[in-house]
Amino acid sequence: MRPASLHRAQEHAAKWAAWIAVAGHSWLIAAALWRPERFGVPSIAWLVAAFVPTVALAWLVQRAKVYSRHALVWYLGLVIPLLMREPFVTERTALAILCPVTMATFLTGHRTVLAMGIIPIGLMAARGGVGSPYLHVPYFAMYAVVVAILFATRTTLNLALNDAAKSAALFDVFARETNEFMTISGPGKSGAEARMSYVSPSVTRVLGYSDDEPNNMSWQQVLHPDDVGVIAKISAEIRSGPGMSGTGQFRMRHKDGSYRWMVARGTNLLHNPHVGGVLSTFVDVTPLVEERERMEERLEHQATHDDASGLPNRRKLNEELSHALEDTKQGGAWSLLFVDVDGFKVVNDSLGHDFGDRLVAAVAERFGQALPASARIFRFGGDELVVLLRSPLTDAAEAAEGLVGSMQRPFKLGDRDVFVTASVGVAGLRQDHDRPEAVMKDADLAMYRAKERGRNRCERFDDLMRERVERRHALEQALRAALETRELSLAYQPKVSAADGRITGFEALLRWNCGKLGRIGPVEFIPVAEETGLIIPIGMWVLEQAASQLHVWQSRSPRLAGLKMAVNLSGRQLLGQEDFAERVAELLAARSVLPWTVELEITESVLMTNAAKAVERLQKLKKIGMKLAIDDFGTGYSSLSYLRKFPVDVLKVDRAFVSGLGASREDSPIVELIITLAQALGLETVAEGVETQEQLTELKALGCDQIQGYFIAQPLTAEAATQLLERSFGLAGDEPLRAAAE
Ligand code: C2E
Ligand code: MG
Ligand code: MG
Repeated sequence: MRPASLHRAQEHAAKWAAWIAVAGHSWLIAAALWRPERFGVPSIAWLVAAFVPTVALAWLVQRAKVYSRHALVWYLGLVIPLLMREPFVTERTALAILCPVTMATFLTGHRTVLAMGIIPIGLMAARGGVGSPYLHVPYFAMYAVVVAILFATRTTLNLALNDAAKSAALFDVFARETNEFMTISGPGKSGAEARMSYVSPSVTRVLGYSDDEPNNMSWQQVLHPDDVGVIAKISAEIRSGPGMSGTGQFRMRHKDGSYRWMVARGTNLLHNPHVGGVLSTFVDVTPLVEERERMEERLEHQATHDDASGLPNRRKLNEELSHALEDTKQGGAWSLLFVDVDGFKVVNDSLGHDFGDRLVAAVAERFGQALPASARIFRFGGDELVVLLRSPLTDAAEAAEGLVGSMQRPFKLGDRDVFVTASVGVAGLRQDHDRPEAVMKDADLAMYRAKERGRNRCERFDDLMRERVERRHALEQALRAALETRELSLAYQPKVSAADGRITGFEALLRWNCGKLGRIGPVEFIPVAEETGLIIPIGMWVLEQAASQLHVWQSRSPRLAGLKMAVNLSGRQLLGQEDFAERVAELLAARSVLPWTVELEITESVLMTNAAKAVERLQKLKKIGMKLAIDDFGTGYSSLSYLRKFPVDVLKVDRAFVSGLGASREDSPIVELIITLAQALGLETVAEGVETQEQLTELKALGCDQIQGYFIAQPLTAEAATQLLERSFGLAGDEPLRAAAE
């Protein structure tokens, strides 16, 4: 392929050659007319006649006809030798004309140049034969040298031009065939306002525009309006100095109107004379971006949806609930339904988890039909569904009733009909709900109320519940500080022997005089301490305090050496601490208290929550020599077989049975039974909550070993208990007993 630049050079040279030929020919005619006598008329006529084709050829060459260049060369090859004879021209003059003309036309091609060399020689030979005066050796040699030089120059130039042409062609292919495209944005305006002075033809493939369409377009015309800022930033970076570059990702408009994601890299070549602008390359990354978006969507879906049922999960609920809470602050009315499928565990256990999942999905589907389309249903846990409704509490409560009603029909799963009901708690979103969990807690609480009230129903979270929640929250906060602020103390309630009324020991009972909330009973705050785990440090503190006090009393007089101290233990203390027995042993040893003078009271219900573990832990305590009592006996449904396994020493008859003694007597058989049972198992009995003489008399008659209750004494401060001991044991003459330091 002939390179375009060579083609242009040849055109140019041929034009010059043509004019030189015309000028040379004109000069000859002028010379002939000046000295006509030397030329003679035929020669002049011949010269003038030949002028016509010379001018015609020159004209054709100017019109850039391809064949005209070749014709010119051949013509000059013919004419000039003809003219080379006296008186027209001397050899030197002929060369002077021939050389530049040849020089200019040599570019036409090797063959033409060769022909130029051969034709004049042939003609000269024909005109004069071997003896012709025109066949001068020097002239011939000069002519041959000129042709050889031209030939060599032509070849070298051709090689160089071919190289250039190759790169140009390569660039052309690249610029057209690549999947990227390039632009050059001129100097002047920057950012989205910059104009494109060059756009590579591959823009057609990438953005659908024809080759020259975007030329001189401003960036703004093809940029996504939201990405103008991105371009401004990259552009500023690139234009901050010569050679600076920057990359970015943004959207550009395709010819079809859609937007494509492009990754671009721009380099500041404003200082480069060949470029004179910012050179940018663009790659269409739309498929990658779309794939990534799809992937992200998939991951997001997986993260926010439950696999088994396809329902949005707890995380999604949290998200949407947060939005709803924000909307509530703007005055929006939202409610939350917490649904627990009654009896789901039975279904799950008997028919398998897959079946359970299908059931939950079916329940959600039925809810979907019963609820307005805007309702959002989430799977919160195994059998717990949560519904977020954009409606006030009263409407939501109505919807909840509808849900409970919709469960009355069986669910057909495979060939099975399954009947399940639902307990629903309804709570409205309030502005003072600071976190999604707060609303969840309300609805959950209401759901528990529904369960308590017999399931298959719905309950609203009301003010009373709210007060309780708030109180509980306040308690929790205050309790965390209670140990440090020394608001906790112990009261000691004596236990006496039923036989002779002698004090056998005390039960340590925790008291809390809260600076903010006033006196709070253990029945209220112990469960909070258990739930929060605070019972562990608090329980340890109680043990330390009680042990210290016991040590003070025991060491006061030999008569008090066998005095006992009962300390209440919560389930979490016993079951939640692996090394509990070791810690207690250490604690007692540090205060010189013998383990068998300390009795740990554990309620029956705690023991039954995890009987096997309880047995193991109790045995450890037993091993270090402690005494163990079952508190509130008769209320916790102990199985008799376990009772035998618990390594306990004492049964405390619950106050509920004791209070029935004396007056009604209907509880007498139960108390009798408990005492008989205890005796059969070789256990001691303590009756708690004894308030009257009748109760005491009857308990004595039934063979109860020890008595505790207001009838004997209220729980006392350490000082009051100390005084009681002094009185009872006749220690008045001895040095007065003092309460243990804290
Ligand atoms: P409990 O261990 O069964 O303690 C007996 C409760 O009955 C005490 O209530 C006591 O004041 C009360 N009481 C005693 N005699 C009579 C009476 O004649 N009539 C009536 N009506 N009540 C009587 P208190 O002190 O309010 O403690 C309640 C419960 O709190 C205790 O029941 C015990 O389970 C728990 N508790 C108390 N202190 C602690 C402690 O330090 N740790 C743990 N884990 N629980 C404790
Ligand atoms: Mg007790
Ligand atoms: Mg009790």
